[in-house]
Amino acid sequence: MKSIRALTFDLDNTLWETDESILIAEEAMAAHLRSLTPPAWMTEFGLEAFRAVRQQIIEERPDIAHNLTLVRHETLIRWFEGQGATRSIAENLAGEGFRVFYEERQKVEPYPGTVATLEILSKDYPMGAITNGNADLMAMPLGQYFQFCLQAQHFTKPKPDPAMFEEALKKLNVEPHECLHIGDDIEHDVMGAKHSGMRAVWFNTRAVIPEGDVPADHTITTLEELIGILKLPG
Ligand SMILES: [Mg+2]
Repeated sequence: MKSIRALTFDLDNTLWETDESILIAEEAMAAHLRSLTPPAWMTEFGLEAFRAVRQQIIEERPDIAHNLTLVRHETLIRWFEGQGATRSIAENLAGEGFRVFYEERQKVEPYPGTVATLEILSKDYPMGAITNGNADLMAMPLGQYFQFCLQAQHFTKPKPDPAMFEEALKKLNVEPHECLHIGDDIEHDVMGAKHSGMRAVWFNTRAVIPEGDVPADHTITTLEELIGILKLPG
Protein backbone atom coordinates (compact mmCIF):
# COMPACT_ATOMS: atom_id res chain seq x y z
CA MET A 1 0.00 0.00 0.00
CA LYS A 2 2.71 2.41 -1.06
CA SER A 3 0.23 5.18 -1.92
CA ILE A 4 -0.68 5.50 1.77
CA ARG A 5 0.62 8.72 3.32
CA ALA A 6 -1.10 8.77 6.73
CA LEU A 7 -2.64 6.39 9.25
CA THR A 8 -5.57 6.58 11.64
CA PHE A 9 -6.24 4.11 14.44
CA ASP A 10 -9.17 3.11 16.56
CA LEU A 11 -8.20 2.80 20.24
CA ASP A 12 -10.40 0.50 22.35
CA ASN A 13 -9.82 -3.17 21.56
CA THR A 14 -7.42 -2.12 18.78
CA LEU A 15 -4.41 -0.82 20.71
CA TRP A 16 -5.44 -2.38 24.05
CA GLU A 17 -8.11 -4.60 25.59
CA THR A 18 -10.76 -2.30 27.02
CA ASP A 19 -13.37 -4.37 28.84
CA GLU A 20 -11.15 -5.36 31.76
CA SER A 21 -9.95 -1.80 32.38
CA ILE A 22 -13.55 -0.52 32.35
CA LEU A 23 -14.56 -3.12 34.96
CA ILE A 24 -11.63 -2.17 37.20
CA ALA A 25 -12.48 1.52 36.77
CA GLU A 26 -16.13 0.88 37.67
CA GLU A 27 -15.11 -0.96 40.83
CA ALA A 28 -12.84 1.92 41.82
CA MET A 29 -15.67 4.38 41.14
CA ALA A 30 -18.10 2.38 43.32
CA ALA A 31 -15.57 2.08 46.16
CA HIS A 32 -14.95 5.83 46.10
CA LEU A 33 -18.67 6.63 46.08
CA ARG A 34 -19.22 4.23 49.01
CA SER A 35 -16.68 6.23 50.99
CA LEU A 36 -18.65 9.45 50.38
CA THR A 37 -22.28 8.42 50.87
CA PRO A 38 -24.63 6.95 53.48
CA PRO A 39 -24.37 3.14 53.19
CA ALA A 40 -28.03 2.79 52.10
CA TRP A 41 -27.42 4.80 48.91
CA MET A 42 -24.96 2.22 47.61
CA THR A 43 -26.55 -1.02 48.89
CA GLU A 44 -28.16 -1.83 45.55
CA PHE A 45 -25.40 -0.31 43.46
CA GLY A 46 -23.72 -2.86 41.22
CA LEU A 47 -22.79 -3.39 37.61
CA GLU A 48 -26.24 -4.66 36.65
CA ALA A 49 -28.10 -1.85 38.42
CA PHE A 50 -25.77 0.79 37.00
CA ARG A 51 -26.19 -0.56 33.47
CA ALA A 52 -29.97 -0.66 33.80
CA VAL A 53 -30.08 3.05 34.73
CA ARG A 54 -27.59 3.86 31.98
CA GLN A 55 -29.81 2.08 29.45
CA GLN A 56 -32.77 4.25 30.57
CA ILE A 57 -30.71 7.40 30.06
CA ILE A 58 -29.61 6.28 26.57
CA GLU A 59 -33.21 5.53 25.59
CA GLU A 60 -34.47 8.87 26.92
CA ARG A 61 -31.59 10.91 25.49
CA PRO A 62 -30.53 9.51 22.10
CA ASP A 63 -28.94 12.92 21.45
CA ILE A 64 -26.25 12.23 24.07
CA ALA A 65 -25.99 8.44 23.65
CA HIS A 66 -22.57 8.70 21.95
CA ASN A 67 -21.19 10.97 24.66
CA LEU A 68 -20.03 8.37 27.16
CA THR A 69 -18.83 11.02 29.60
CA LEU A 70 -22.21 12.74 29.74
CA VAL A 71 -24.11 9.44 29.85
CA ARG A 72 -22.05 8.26 32.82
CA HIS A 73 -22.63 11.58 34.62
CA GLU A 74 -26.37 11.51 34.00
CA THR A 75 -26.55 7.86 35.11
CA LEU A 76 -24.90 8.65 38.44
CA ILE A 77 -27.10 11.71 38.97
CA ARG A 78 -30.21 9.62 38.33
CA TRP A 79 -28.95 6.95 40.71
CA PHE A 80 -28.34 9.30 43.62
CA GLU A 81 -31.55 11.25 43.07
CA GLY A 82 -33.29 7.88 43.20
CA GLN A 83 -31.72 7.33 46.62
CA GLY A 84 -33.08 10.66 47.87
CA ALA A 85 -30.12 12.95 47.22
CA THR A 86 -30.79 16.55 46.22
CA ARG A 87 -29.86 17.53 42.67
CA SER A 88 -26.76 19.37 43.76
CA ILE A 89 -25.51 16.54 45.98
CA ALA A 90 -26.24 14.05 43.19
CA GLU A 91 -24.28 16.22 40.75
CA ASN A 92 -21.32 16.48 43.11
CA LEU A 93 -21.26 12.73 43.66
CA ALA A 94 -21.52 12.12 39.91
CA GLY A 95 -18.54 14.41 39.38
CA GLU A 96 -16.53 12.56 42.02
CA GLY A 97 -17.51 9.13 40.65
CA PHE A 98 -16.64 10.12 37.12
CA ARG A 99 -13.31 11.62 38.13
CA VAL A 100 -12.18 8.34 39.72
CA PHE A 101 -13.60 6.24 36.88
CA TYR A 102 -11.90 8.37 34.23
CA GLU A 103 -8.52 8.29 35.93
CA GLU A 104 -8.65 4.48 36.26
CA ARG A 105 -10.03 4.00 32.77
CA GLN A 106 -6.88 5.49 31.28
CA LYS A 107 -4.72 2.75 32.83
CA VAL A 108 -4.69 0.47 29.83
CA GLU A 109 -2.14 -2.13 28.84
CA PRO A 110 -1.26 -1.99 25.13
CA TYR A 111 -1.45 -5.35 23.32
CA PRO A 112 1.98 -7.02 22.92
CA GLY A 113 3.96 -5.47 20.07
CA THR A 114 1.85 -2.31 19.96
CA VAL A 115 4.44 0.15 21.27
CA ALA A 116 7.26 -1.15 19.05
CA THR A 117 5.02 -1.14 15.95
CA LEU A 118 3.67 2.37 16.55
CA GLU A 119 7.19 3.61 17.10
CA ILE A 120 8.31 2.21 13.73
CA LEU A 121 5.24 3.44 11.84
CA SER A 122 5.35 6.92 13.37
CA LYS A 123 8.75 7.50 11.75
CA ASP A 124 7.22 7.21 8.28
CA TYR A 125 3.60 8.31 8.72
CA PRO A 126 1.69 11.05 10.51
CA MET A 127 -0.84 9.24 12.71
CA GLY A 128 -4.16 10.17 14.30
CA ALA A 129 -6.61 8.35 16.56
CA ILE A 130 -10.40 8.20 16.12
CA THR A 131 -12.35 6.78 19.05
CA ASN A 132 -15.99 6.35 19.98
CA GLY A 133 -14.85 6.03 23.62
CA ASN A 134 -13.35 8.55 26.00
CA ALA A 135 -9.81 7.28 26.35
CA ASP A 136 -7.44 10.22 26.79
CA LEU A 137 -4.72 8.98 24.45
CA MET A 138 -2.69 12.16 24.40
CA ALA A 139 -2.18 11.92 28.19
CA MET A 140 -0.82 8.36 27.86
CA PRO A 141 2.74 7.33 26.91
CA LEU A 142 1.31 5.98 23.61
CA GLY A 143 0.16 9.50 22.75
CA GLN A 144 3.72 10.46 21.78
CA TYR A 145 3.29 8.61 18.48
CA PHE A 146 0.14 10.48 17.49
CA GLN A 147 -0.62 13.95 16.16
CA PHE A 148 -4.13 14.00 17.65
CA CYS A 149 -6.99 11.99 19.13
CA LEU A 150 -10.60 12.62 18.08
CA GLN A 151 -13.30 11.53 20.55
CA ALA A 152 -16.93 10.99 19.52
CA GLN A 153 -18.16 13.08 22.44
CA HIS A 154 -16.89 16.19 20.64
CA PHE A 155 -18.85 15.39 17.48
CA THR A 156 -22.55 15.13 16.80
CA LYS A 157 -22.29 11.48 15.78
CA PRO A 158 -19.87 8.60 16.45
CA LYS A 159 -18.19 6.33 13.88
CA PRO A 160 -19.28 5.02 11.36
CA ASP A 161 -20.58 8.53 10.62
CA PRO A 162 -18.08 10.28 8.29
CA ALA A 163 -17.65 13.40 10.49
CA MET A 164 -14.69 12.17 12.52
CA PHE A 165 -12.99 10.55 9.52
CA GLU A 166 -13.32 13.80 7.55
CA GLU A 167 -11.89 15.82 10.41
CA ALA A 168 -8.93 13.42 10.67
CA LEU A 169 -8.23 13.72 6.93
CA LYS A 170 -8.27 17.49 7.22
CA LYS A 171 -5.83 17.42 10.14
CA LEU A 172 -3.53 14.99 8.35
CA ASN A 173 -3.84 17.00 5.15
CA VAL A 174 -4.27 13.95 2.89
CA GLU A 175 -6.83 12.74 0.37
CA PRO A 176 -9.15 9.97 1.62
CA HIS A 177 -7.49 7.26 -0.54
CA GLU A 178 -4.09 8.21 0.89
CA CYS A 179 -5.17 7.39 4.44
CA LEU A 180 -5.40 3.95 6.00
CA HIS A 181 -7.62 3.37 9.03
CA ILE A 182 -6.98 0.43 11.35
CA GLY A 183 -9.66 -0.82 13.73
CA ASP A 184 -11.33 -3.85 15.32
CA ASP A 185 -14.96 -2.99 14.62
CA ILE A 186 -16.25 -4.02 11.21
CA GLU A 187 -19.10 -1.52 11.14
CA HIS A 188 -17.57 1.44 12.96
CA ASP A 189 -14.01 1.19 11.66
CA VAL A 190 -13.91 -0.77 8.41
CA MET A 191 -17.24 0.29 6.92
CA GLY A 192 -16.97 3.80 8.35
CA ALA A 193 -13.54 4.38 6.81
CA LYS A 194 -14.45 2.82 3.47
CA HIS A 195 -17.60 4.91 3.32
CA SER A 196 -15.42 8.01 3.68
CA GLY A 197 -13.24 6.88 0.75
CA MET A 198 -10.37 5.76 2.95
CA ARG A 199 -8.57 2.44 2.90
CA ALA A 200 -9.18 0.12 5.84
CA VAL A 201 -7.44 -2.68 7.69
CA TRP A 202 -9.56 -4.87 9.94
CA PHE A 203 -7.56 -5.75 13.04
CA ASN A 204 -9.29 -8.87 14.26
CA THR A 205 -8.08 -8.67 17.86
CA ARG A 206 -10.74 -10.98 19.24
CA ALA A 207 -10.69 -13.86 16.77
CA VAL A 208 -14.15 -12.92 15.50
CA ILE A 209 -15.65 -15.06 12.77
CA PRO A 210 -17.40 -12.53 10.52
CA GLU A 211 -20.93 -13.26 9.30
CA GLY A 212 -20.37 -11.99 5.78
CA ASP A 213 -17.63 -10.45 3.68
CA VAL A 214 -15.57 -7.83 5.50
CA PRO A 215 -14.98 -4.92 3.09
CA ALA A 216 -11.44 -4.33 4.38
CA ASP A 217 -8.37 -4.00 2.14
CA HIS A 218 -6.52 -6.32 4.51
CA THR A 219 -7.19 -8.25 7.71
CA ILE A 220 -4.53 -8.63 10.39
CA THR A 221 -4.32 -10.47 13.70
CA THR A 222 -1.20 -8.73 15.03
CA LEU A 223 -0.35 -5.05 14.63
CA GLU A 224 3.16 -5.91 13.36
CA GLU A 225 1.61 -7.24 10.13
CA LEU A 226 0.83 -3.63 9.20
CA ILE A 227 4.48 -2.91 8.53
CA GLY A 228 4.63 -5.51 5.75
CA ILE A 229 1.22 -4.53 4.35
CA LEU A 230 2.30 -0.91 3.96
CA LYS A 231 5.22 -2.05 1.79
CA LEU A 232 2.95 -3.84 -0.68
CA PRO A 233 2.31 -2.19 -4.06
CA GLY A 234 -0.95 -0.32 -4.52
MG1 LIG B 1 -12.58 -0.57 18.97
